[in-house]
Amino acid sequence: MWWLLVLGGLILIQMLFKSEPAREISWQEFEKNILVKNAVEKIVVVNQEYAEIFLKKEFRNDSAFKDVFKPILGREPNPGPHYVIQIGSVETFDRNLEAAEKKLPNRENISVLYVKKSNWYWNILEWVLPLILMFALWQYLFRKAGTGGPGGSSPFSFGKSTATLLDKENKSTFTFDDVAGLDEAEMEVREIVDFLKNPQDFTRLGAKIPKGVILVGPPGTGKTLLAKAVAGEAQVPFFIISGSEFVEMFVGVGASRVRDLFKRAKEKAPCIVFIDEIDAIGRSRSRNAYFSGSNDERESTLNQLLTEMDGFGTNTGVIVLAATNRADMLDPALLRPGRFDRHIYLELPNIKEREAIFKVHLRPLILDETIDVTFLAGQTPGFSGADIANICNEAALIAARRKKDKIARQDFLDAIDRIVAGLEKKSKIISPEEKKVIAYHEAGHAVVSWLLKTVDPLVKVSIIPRGKSLGAAWYLPEEKQLRTLNVFKEHFCATLGGRAAEEVIFSEVSSGALDDLEKVTKEAYMVVAYYGFNEKIGPVSFYDSSGQRDTGFQKPYSEETGKLIDEEVRKMVTDLYGQTKQLLIRNKESLTRVAELLLQKEVIFKEDLEKILGSRMLEQEPDRKNEIKPALIPV
Ligand code: ATP
Repeated sequence: MWWLLVLGGLILIQMLFKSEPAREISWQEFEKNILVKNAVEKIVVVNQEYAEIFLKKEFRNDSAFKDVFKPILGREPNPGPHYVIQIGSVETFDRNLEAAEKKLPNRENISVLYVKKSNWYWNILEWVLPLILMFALWQYLFRKAGTGGPGGSSPFSFGKSTATLLDKENKSTFTFDDVAGLDEAEMEVREIVDFLKNPQDFTRLGAKIPKGVILVGPPGTGKTLLAKAVAGEAQVPFFIISGSEFVEMFVGVGASRVRDLFKRAKEKAPCIVFIDEIDAIGRSRSRNAYFSGSNDERESTLNQLLTEMDGFGTNTGVIVLAATNRADMLDPALLRPGRFDRHIYLELPNIKEREAIFKVHLRPLILDETIDVTFLAGQTPGFSGADIANICNEAALIAARRKKDKIARQDFLDAIDRIVAGLEKKSKIISPEEKKVIAYHEAGHAVVSWLLKTVDPLVKVSIIPRGKSLGAAWYLPEEKQLRTLNVFKEHFCATLGGRAAEEVIFSEVSSGALDDLEKVTKEAYMVVAYYGFNEKIGPVSFYDSSGQRDTGFQKPYSEETGKLIDEEVRKMVTDLYGQTKQLLIRNKESLTRVAELLLQKEVIFKEDLEKILGSRMLEQEPDRKNEIKPALIPV
């Protein structure tokens, strides 16, 4: 910067001391007003482009020339040039001058000089400016590359690790009190801290301290939260970095950052290094081998990580904690004992765990007495910790929008609906005919799922558009770990109920069943090809839990088996669709009543369905049980 300032200063000084710019005049003016008076001292023709006219000093008091002799800084009077004439060409100028001179009364030869002038500061600027620009660009690029790292502004820091260090001065604000429902995982993670603090307790019997612990689980189950809580409670330095931070546009930066991270960690040992979303660098190396030209950088980063975790160097006192939701994508070498020795699986919380998570997130909220945590946990099966945190926040926002002093149960229910199905869009324009189709479609889902025993209990049905859907049926899934073929089939029937109802009532179908059909097709393929439920395919599974076969080009079965799978899936879904239609034809009256009620009220609840279809306890109603069951027994 400083020499830019100097340069600017120089230019400014030069401009200040420059003489008054000469006044530009035409040849005619020159001849008529100046030449005639014999006031010209000399003429300088510059670069064959223009002529500078210098006046004789004795004319400085001439009223006609007073202005051009006006004094300027330090020089008095203006020494000239006083006038400038643009000349077409030197020859014409000479000719004109000669002719004019002849006309002068006391013929006098005016001295004419021909000079070449160059503008020095422009010349300097011409070669300095590109240099300045290049230097500035270079600085900018290096600064960009190095931001975030220690001393991020240095041009050489882009190979340094960008991990954040949490220690005594810079502590994590999370503790184990903020983590709920992850008791087993929490215990295992707490043990890591013990390993670091008192290694001799474990090594005295010859045991080796684990080097790495990997947290695996679906998104939002609290992996990062758990790591942050360890950071808050561990009392040892804690490095946090995300897998994607190793990746940069320059080749070799990833590996260098891994090296630097471990170097920093070893200096601070005993300590914990947490790598979030490790799949960004830890992906299996054989993956997409056919297209992998661009993967070299990631692979070298991974190789460096493998070496650091189990190389020649000792990493005593450094434990690596990592989190991912795609353990199947990780390179097997990363997961082998000696590297990530311990795998901690986090699952979606069950009802008890959800209750505990709700309690954590309800703590800062102002609630009224209608809130029942057990009820809320019961309403949210399949929700992750992050979903629950979101519901609590959403409920608070809804209550605030309604200008309430406290958050009530209804706010939570609305928040759940909003998160499950999206925002209500009452303003969406739907014609009465379409509304009728939607009502029958939803009524179809409702009636079929009500009549089938194993389908999850229905909570409510709505034909108010929400998010992307035009209508929706809410179920309360039961927490089941295992599903039989019959459960799958009845579930398919309930999903196909919408389209079947359209066909039964209107004799034609609409495009509204896209989502239902997609779900059924996907799951039907799983039933046939993964779960070994199909008799013709037999008890074989083509599922690949290792995730190694991801290109989609290699199928683990022959052409014929592929065809058979397609046929069996189509047959199963078509048969079930037929059975669903039959079921609805038999219950057409109930279907119509439910649809009419929906059209009238827009939202109907379990109780409304009970009034039309009777209690759902099928066991107590042998007639209906007989009516449905045969239709669904596998053939
Ligand atoms: P991802 O794999 O997508 O990174 P994650 O498993 O790391 O997800 P977190 O970032 O830990 O998920 O969780 C997100 C938020 O969800 C947390 O900040 C917290 O508010 C909430 N949460 C998740 N699990 C729990 C839990 N067990 N107890 C309390 N809060 C939780």
